[in-house]
Amino acid sequence: MDYQEIIEEVYSEVLAMPIEGKLADYIPELASVNPNYFGVCLVDKHGNIAECGDSNVPFSIQSISKVQTLVMAYSKMGVDLWKRVNVEPSGNPFNNLAQLEYENGIPRNPFINPGALVITDSIMSLYDDAKSEIKQFISNMSGGDPVVVNPKVKQSELECSSRNRASAYLLKSYKNLTHSVDDLLDVYTDHCAIEMDCRQLAKSFLYLTNNGHCNYNNTRVLDKGLTKRINALMLTCGFYDEAGEFAFRVGLAGKSGVGGGVIAVLPGEFSVAVYTPPLNPKGNPRKALYFLELLTTKLGISLF
Ligand code: GLN
Repeated sequence: MDYQEIIEEVYSEVLAMPIEGKLADYIPELASVNPNYFGVCLVDKHGNIAECGDSNVPFSIQSISKVQTLVMAYSKMGVDLWKRVNVEPSGNPFNNLAQLEYENGIPRNPFINPGALVITDSIMSLYDDAKSEIKQFISNMSGGDPVVVNPKVKQSELECSSRNRASAYLLKSYKNLTHSVDDLLDVYTDHCAIEMDCRQLAKSFLYLTNNGHCNYNNTRVLDKGLTKRINALMLTCGFYDEAGEFAFRVGLAGKSGVGGGVIAVLPGEFSVAVYTPPLNPKGNPRKALYFLELLTTKLGISLF
């Protein structure tokens, strides 16, 4: 199937919609990006690329990096990982603290911030240089394209990280954090501040459509069963308290980031990245959700 034509058709329909939404100004540096950026790239199972608009503009991947860190931790630790973090949708915003307190320091899932902090902590125990290993891993998944961190975005988040700091201290009080809060936030903000464009991002998720096998470097990243579980978590928890709506409207497994990116996968078929910075009140890029909804509607295929 040639996806280029349909990508262009959906792109122009969504482009014509008025821009709604708000940039993620709680990380000041993210509020300075051009809100009109709109890029899309789809990579099919054969590696064919269909793209449109600003697909080569690098952006801050933010919470999308939580999938890659989860894959790194899960592939090494297996079921032991689930002693420290649960696999249930949270029904709460990504930075909610109350749930962590009344559930005794075990985050609901790896994609809300407290869960992602636990995953980052695990990676720091697994590797001496966690920051470099994460970048190297993501680069390998996309076939060797270099992966860089935007130091201004990292610094900006570090200066405004009171909530993540509070989550980390709460985790510490429940003995669910091994490293110091400062060291943890250094690594966490580093991987959130990684920049990629839609093309690189879509390529780097292709292995999740292919039973965990990365075609770009011919390696098995995850076995079939673990791949199924990562995709299940993206479906049920990838959009926080809007995960149900995403499954309902779009029907793909995916993950958003407050930098304006969304990645979505249809196992056996394709991965697709969309970049459009303005966010809806749940912190998900609004136009990207319309784009993906229209795409699966027009294609007539989804997970369901
Ligand atoms: N780095 C951001 C944070 O911790 C990531 C949030 C997101 O993309 N949803 O708040």
